[in-house]
Order: sequence, then C-alpha cells, then structure tokens
Amino acid sequence: MTFTIKCMDCGYNAPYFPTATTCPKCNSQWREAEYDYELIGRTLPAKLANRTFDLWRYRELLPVRNPNPGMSLGEGGSPLVRAANLGLMLGCPNIFIKDERQGPTASFKDRQASVTIAALKEAGITELVAASTGNVAISYSAYASRAGMKLWAFVTSLVPAVKMREIALYGSQVIKITGSYDQCKQVASEFARQRGVYQDMGARTITSIEAMKTIAFEIAEQLTYMEEAGPNPPWRSPDWYVQAISGGMGPLGVYKGFREMKEMGWTERIPALAPIQAEGCAPMVTSWKKGLEKAEVVSSPQTHIETLATGDPGRSYEFLRQRVNDTNGAFESVTDEEAFRAMHVLAKMEGISAEPAAAAAFAGLFKLIRAGIIKPSDTVVVNCTGHTMPAESFVLGDNWSRDVKFPSKQETPQEGLLSALTQVAPEKFPKIVIVEDTAEARRLIRRILQSQGNFTILEATNGRAGLELIQKELPDLIILDLMMPETDGFTVIEALRSKPETAAIPVIVATAKELTPDEKSRLNGQIQALLQKGDFLNDEFLEEVKSLIK
Ligand SMILES: [Zn+2]
Repeated sequence: MTFTIKCMDCGYNAPYFPTATTCPKCNSQWREAEYDYELIGRTLPAKLANRTFDLWRYRELLPVRNPNPGMSLGEGGSPLVRAANLGLMLGCPNIFIKDERQGPTASFKDRQASVTIAALKEAGITELVAASTGNVAISYSAYASRAGMKLWAFVTSLVPAVKMREIALYGSQVIKITGSYDQCKQVASEFARQRGVYQDMGARTITSIEAMKTIAFEIAEQLTYMEEAGPNPPWRSPDWYVQAISGGMGPLGVYKGFREMKEMGWTERIPALAPIQAEGCAPMVTSWKKGLEKAEVVSSPQTHIETLATGDPGRSYEFLRQRVNDTNGAFESVTDEEAFRAMHVLAKMEGISAEPAAAAAFAGLFKLIRAGIIKPSDTVVVNCTGHTMPAESFVLGDNWSRDVKFPSKQETPQEGLLSALTQVAPEKFPKIVIVEDTAEARRLIRRILQSQGNFTILEATNGRAGLELIQKELPDLIILDLMMPETDGFTVIEALRSKPETAAIPVIVATAKELTPDEKSRLNGQIQALLQKGDFLNDEFLEEVKSLIK
C-alpha cells in the first residue's frame, strides 16, 4: 500500500476506508490521498508504454487496491483534439479540446463514477446515495449497475426528463426534488443519514478528486506526444486549463494531478486554472472578483444550464480560490446566451456538439482571450463534456426545423414537388462576396458567416476577379481584403464607387495590419466597417453583417 489519507486541515494521516469520511483527529471532511511520490515517480513512467490508454494506466496513483478490469467501461483516455478553426478565429493557435464526451456515458463524471464505485465495491458497499444535476447520476448509475450496486439518485425537477429516464433505465431509483440543487443535496443527505447508506460527497469524496486528476496526467502525456517529444518525462503542461464548474471538482482534481506530476518531476509547472460559471449562478466568480475568502451563496440560481446550478459551493470555493490565485488563473462567468452561442460556434467550426455546461467553458475562453488574459501564444486546454441532450429547444431557438407540407390533390406531382421545395428554402438568402487573396482567411470568413446564418457566399481570390464577380452578381454585401497584389482593396473600392450599379453596395474591409492615417483617410466615407483580422469573433462583425444586409 503506497497511499494514505491526509487531512487538509490538521495534516493528520490515516489509512483509507471509503466509508470513513472524516479526519479521525479533527473531524474535517476535507482530506486527500497522498502517495509515495518518490517511488511512483521513478517507476511508473516505464510501465506506461505497455498499458491501455484509460485512466487505470495510472492505477498506482489511484486509491483502489485491486482495480477489477471486469467493471471497466473504458473510462478515461479521452482524445485531446486540436481546435484549429477556433484557434484561427480567436488568433490563439494552440487551443486543445479534452473531449470528455467520449466517456462511457458521455461526461467527465465517468472518471469519478468508475473510481468511486471501484473503491466502494472493494470495501463491500452495496448501496449508495447521490444528489445530482443529471450527469453524475447517469454515470454512477451505469457503474453501479455493472458492480451490482443500488443507487438512490436525487435529482432536481429541472433535470431534463430524458436524463431522468436514462438514470431509471440503469435500474437506479430516481427521486425528483422540486427545489434548488442545494435543497436536493440536503434531502439526499438526510435520507442517507437515516437509512445509514453511503453518500457521495462530491468534491469531498476522496475518489472524486483522485479520478479527476487523471485528466491532468492524460493532457500532459498527450501534449507531449503531439509535440513528438518522446514518452519520457518531463511532459508538457498547457498554460491554461479551462473548465465550466458547478461544485468545482474538475479543476480541483486537475490541479492535484499537475501538482503531483510536478512533485514527481514529470512536468515543470501547473497550468493557470480558469473555472467558468453561468452568470445566473456564479457564486465563486462574484466572490472571487470581490476578493472574498468565503463564497457568497446564490439562493435562487437563474440559469437554464441546470448542470451548473450549485448556488452554495461551501469550502470548495476556498480551495479553488487558492488554486486559481496560486496559478495566476482567473474565474469568469458567462450568460446562458453566450454559452448557447458558443455551443453553435463549437459545433459549426469544430464538429463538436457539447452540452450547454461545456459550451459555457468555451464562452469563457472567448471572453478571457478577448480580455487579453489568455495570450495568443498560450497553450490552452478546454474540458468539453456532456453529450446527452445537448440541444434543448431553447438553445436552438425558432426555425431550427422546417415543416414541409406535401401537395394537395389539385396540383400535379411536379407542381407539388416545386411547392414543397419552395417551402424548404422559402427566402432568398442574402448574397455576400468575399474578396481575399489568402485561402485560409477566405475559409475562416465563410465558416464564421455560415455558422451564424443563411447566406449565399461567393469568393474571389484577387481584386480584378472580385470586381468582375461583384459586377455580375451585385451582392448584398462585400467583405474585402486591402492588401492584395496588383489590384488592391483601395482600387477595388474606387472602381465600385465609380459605377452607379455597385456604388451603394456596403463594404466591410478586413485588414491584417494597422492602417496609416493616410490609408484611413482614403477609406473614409467609402466603406461601412473596418475590421482587424483575428477580431472576427467579436459580435460586432456579425452585428455589422446583419445590419448591412437588411
Ligand atoms: Zn484533521
């Protein structure tokens, strides 16, 4: 046995029993596992090459004595995906997505559930209670059923019905509490106490933090692999780790993972942490911004994102605050609308459909990059989780599907088909011409426009071709590069303005460099907007596009 449980308040070391949830000396509920870092740090790296890429490859650093492969569902080992398009758009090329959607129940909680259930099973426990905003209960249910354990799942009535049904499908007892998540946790605690059933304590459960830290181990191994730096430590750390939080368990665990790696000489540093909350329930963010040591409780959360609705983070805030400050990180909050918009951007730019909670992390990323807190040269890893029911109707808004009625009897089949087709695309899409000599920039502008609305987009690769295309198509809007060989943007504008049929077409100029006063005066009165490249994610760009094509 190479680990003990150390009290985070008094420092007392005790052996590990999952059911003993407090420090025998001071009664604190805040304790964490401690390992023989010298021994493991020296011996484990050489063993990794022959192990499967799942979280059990780090089993010497997990509080389970004999992991049972028969209970595994392939947890951990999620891909680290480079977000090249987001990187281009944000002017921050080294953004990576830790794709936790690819866990057995599609959320990062699978790590917590697999390690916790393994430890409980080992200790002979057969029943457990968990309060959840949805994903935890689904994950625990899956692993509990595999281990032959009974789960009492306490969920708030805000949890989407489809998630509740999934919990029930695994054989767990669903108890729906009409009230806040904090109230739901209170009822669960009381139920567990009265019946003498083991209760999951979220971030205070030893196995939760231990499971989450495997995310850090994987990120370091994967970043190193992607840089083709060879398997042996030291491994790479990102500059930032971004994750949306409710109780804060994810970043707390990831911090511990990097701290342990640093201690073992596997990495050189711990990344800055950026925990993101929903503005309607952001007790940690507001408390941190006010410089408070203890969190101000949000008693009635106002967010659609029910998985982020912990109003009372308790001492998790104190620990996370310390970690964020120690790493020069930042807490940030985003509105539900910003999260939903990020969800669309992520899906349309990177092919990744995340649930709203994970999208909040991306909205937070956008905000921190725009604020200059995350620098263009920084390497950033964003945790993306939860694929269950990502698109509630309020996320998609109206008109996400179109009802097409097929022909009445009076029409011939051809007429019927035509009328059906006009119903499929009833409006004429506004036409936009992009004149830009860099292929990458054309692709990016097209992608951004396509991700935000229905446009007919035409492209020209130089000024001369652009002029011809514009005269032929008479578009509703032109997006024009200034610096092009031969016919540059200035020449294009002058030519357009001199002809009556093109004189009134609005032009947005996109430029990569700061303009001289002389160049600015040449554009004065000739164009509708001037945008710096790399600035396209600003709502300004799309607002501008939408206002100009009305
Ligand atoms: Zn203690």
